[in-house]
Amino acid sequence: MPAKEIVIISAKGGVGKTTVSSSLAVLLNERTNIVAVDTDVDAPNLGIILGCNAERKIPVQASEKAFINRDLCDDCGICVKHCKEGALKMVNGKLQFIYHLCEGCGTCEIVCPRKAIEIKRVDSGVIKIGKSRYGFPCVTGELYIGEASSGQIVTTAKRFGSMEAWKFKAEYLIIDGPPGSSCPTISSITGSNYVILTTEPTPAAISDLKRAIGLAEHFKIPHGIIINKADLVPEFREEVHRLADDKGIEILGEIPYDKKVPVAIANVTPVVLFDGNSPAAMALKRISNRVYEIMKGL
Ligand code: SF4
Ligand code: SF4
Repeated sequence: MPAKEIVIISAKGGVGKTTVSSSLAVLLNERTNIVAVDTDVDAPNLGIILGCNAERKIPVQASEKAFINRDLCDDCGICVKHCKEGALKMVNGKLQFIYHLCEGCGTCEIVCPRKAIEIKRVDSGVIKIGKSRYGFPCVTGELYIGEASSGQIVTTAKRFGSMEAWKFKAEYLIIDGPPGSSCPTISSITGSNYVILTTEPTPAAISDLKRAIGLAEHFKIPHGIIINKADLVPEFREEVHRLADDKGIEILGEIPYDKKVPVAIANVTPVVLFDGNSPAAMALKRISNRVYEIMKGL
């Protein structure tokens, strides 16, 4: 049976998604086999907290770029007029190419009278596969700076995660999703079994939580909410509860504001291992028990 996918997302960045993912990974690993997958491809941090090595690195060619043959180009400038992305410019009568602006559309290749341009596939990211310092396999998707194919890197990371799960007979993929509610987040939750929506009691986080709920509802994926720093502003904590009640979404648990959390992050250790008796760690253990129960029923 394929491993079940638990995806931890937060429409707003910085609300504790990776704190939750890293702790859930080590806690669920105490009960069963898991694979940790980092699909926060713009800023992959899960592997850092879990101490993942990269035994294998697999480049992903998810985009295309123009390549100019300077021996054939006579700097006529025709291609510049047709490049809608501004990736081609004439500077002092010479053609200049701005790599990161090129979308690989191929128009310049078509219009160049001297056949000086060729569109080629390029590496836009890498998948790193290895083991965490806690012994379980981990897969990290990383998008190269300036590249735009994040959704494809996310999908590829998940695919390699599933292959590792099959190899190591893992029951769950614990997937740290990207922040936001656009293409990479959609790629991370597509085909998953359960989505954990991490939020905090602030107006911005609640506004973004509504978008994340919309995504989970749209794709009909069972989901629950974790309120991080739950005691920050009681009024907004109540608002999250009202929202959850209105939508019929379970609050999986509340993590209190705990100074041990940033210290654990600075020490690159999941907080449940850094100080297992801290209030945040105790809350995460209760949440992990609840998630395990839910997953058994799915
Ligand atoms: S159209 Fe072709 S020959 Fe003209 S500037 Fe562009 S690459 Fe060079
Ligand atoms: S491939 Fe498209 S975006 Fe890239 S340089 Fe050519 S016309 Fe511009």
